[in-house]
Amino acid sequence: MNKIIYVEFSEVSDSFEELESTQKTLEKTRILAELFSGSGEDLQEVVLLSTGQPFPSWKNMDLGVSSKTLVKIISRASGRSEDEITRVWKNEGDLGDAAEQMVDNKTQQRLMSKELTVENVVERLQKVAKMEAKGLSQSVDQDKKQSELADLLSSADPVEARYLARIIINNLRLGVAEGTIRDALSEAFFDGENTQEIQRAYDFSNDFSEVSKACRQGLDAVKSIELQLNRPVNSMLAKKVNTIEEGFEEVGRPASVDYKYDGMRAQIHVNDGDIKVFTRRLEDVTKQFPDVVSQVEENIDSDNCILDTEIVGYDPEDGSMIPFQKLSKRIKRKYEIQKLKEQIPVTVRPFDLIYLETPILERPYSERWDNLRDIVSESEDDLKLVDHKKTENPEQVQEMQQRSLSQGHEGIMMKNLDAEYKPGNRVGYMVKLKPVMETLDLAIVGAKWSEGRRSDWLGRLFIGCYDEENGTYQEIGKMATGLTDEQFQEITEKLKPLITEEDGRKVEVRPEVIVEVEYEEIQESPTYSSGYALRFPRMKRFREDKEEADTLERITDLYNNQK
Ligand code: AMP
Repeated sequence: MNKIIYVEFSEVSDSFEELESTQKTLEKTRILAELFSGSGEDLQEVVLLSTGQPFPSWKNMDLGVSSKTLVKIISRASGRSEDEITRVWKNEGDLGDAAEQMVDNKTQQRLMSKELTVENVVERLQKVAKMEAKGLSQSVDQDKKQSELADLLSSADPVEARYLARIIINNLRLGVAEGTIRDALSEAFFDGENTQEIQRAYDFSNDFSEVSKACRQGLDAVKSIELQLNRPVNSMLAKKVNTIEEGFEEVGRPASVDYKYDGMRAQIHVNDGDIKVFTRRLEDVTKQFPDVVSQVEENIDSDNCILDTEIVGYDPEDGSMIPFQKLSKRIKRKYEIQKLKEQIPVTVRPFDLIYLETPILERPYSERWDNLRDIVSESEDDLKLVDHKKTENPEQVQEMQQRSLSQGHEGIMMKNLDAEYKPGNRVGYMVKLKPVMETLDLAIVGAKWSEGRRSDWLGRLFIGCYDEENGTYQEIGKMATGLTDEQFQEITEKLKPLITEEDGRKVEVRPEVIVEVEYEEIQESPTYSSGYALRFPRMKRFREDKEEADTLERITDLYNNQK
């Protein structure tokens, strides 16, 4: 059946102009609600345009137009020189405004052409995006793409051109947040009710056009929107905490404590055995990561699931972790994937499961984890669950943290075992704890021989700062757990020749080994000769380049400034 109402693009651009003229969220909501309720059959397209992108973000689509290319397109559409357009652009500070001024002079010609409809605009933009998507494997016909967009722009009136130009470079700048679109849909279709249900539908579908269609149909349709395979949802995000105690307060006790790896967040969808890998920004990077695909194929025993994972890169020579910075090369690379795969191999570390034959994100985390464990068969070199521990003991958390840091990871995550999975939300269901304080360079002033298996290693390390007033070192804490065997060995070798006194298992050493120490807090303390104690000190690295430790004065300053 033919559509009954055709919304003209000018209606949309008029509303956009109105939206831009106010800072008030309530006012913006009202303007959008009015636009949505008058959009009839074109509602989905109008909603898409209001999000600033002519296609849902989960679709792997992109117009692929840079600002520079847009200058060329405006030039083709308006007959003005690129230099002139660039000048106006720099003057106005906005390429949309420049486009508006440039097409202004073409009124005569435009009168001859047809009015732009919303349907037409969206269709043509999507067509260009499809050309771009095909270009993944072959070079896009830039000329064809530009002429298509120039043609569209030349049929626009000045205000339409402003917004079209901004949409083309994905920079609509209306100050309309997701929450505003949600509230406008609620106002347009439910008299301001059911915002939670709309939000949920959006969280699960990542698609306001689909949600808007459901809103038109009624609440049941909104409620029936579910997480789907091959449609990535926004990842649940982590809040930041500064201390282990704060972490427990946020996520409850006991908590699941994981290593936090410096890798790449990946949501992996297995749909009827077919595997797709999506980044945190919902880009499909399956082609770039054939090794991830095969690891999932081999180690995940489910044909229909969605895994939340961290992909961690490692050095093929010595197996050490490599930071995200380097791994990110693989995301961008479209060619020579095989070669890069060998240079920067990866392991997949799953930590959550949100779909298993059916959406399970509303189950408690502990249950999702059990489900996940059931389908994972771990492999030494490839896919492995994240290192984790269920605990309510701060000492154990600290030990995990030290271990994680000494293996070159970023710190730890603490997770609420009873919580559901909230896509895109920075709720406190999972928190990250990274070292936050300025580090201190401290001298190792003493140590203790370990017991048992490690009895010929110096384990517990006493650390001290330098007291300039009397030229001595004063203790400020001890570091115990969480170092790797290699680190213990290295420390023992360094300290042995420096021993000045032995008393039972305890030794005193000349303060010549300087280490960089992270900690949570400086406290006043009668236990140590400096009068201070570091809370949860952790060794970051040896400071081979340094001979002197930080001074007591600096520590006093840090202590005084901490509050
Ligand atoms: P941040 O990027 O600093 O906000 O920290 C959150 C990110 O840490 C997540 O998006 C993941 O990519 C990453 N991450 C690393 N290890 C884990 C883990 N065990 N659980 C959850 N997220 C993790």
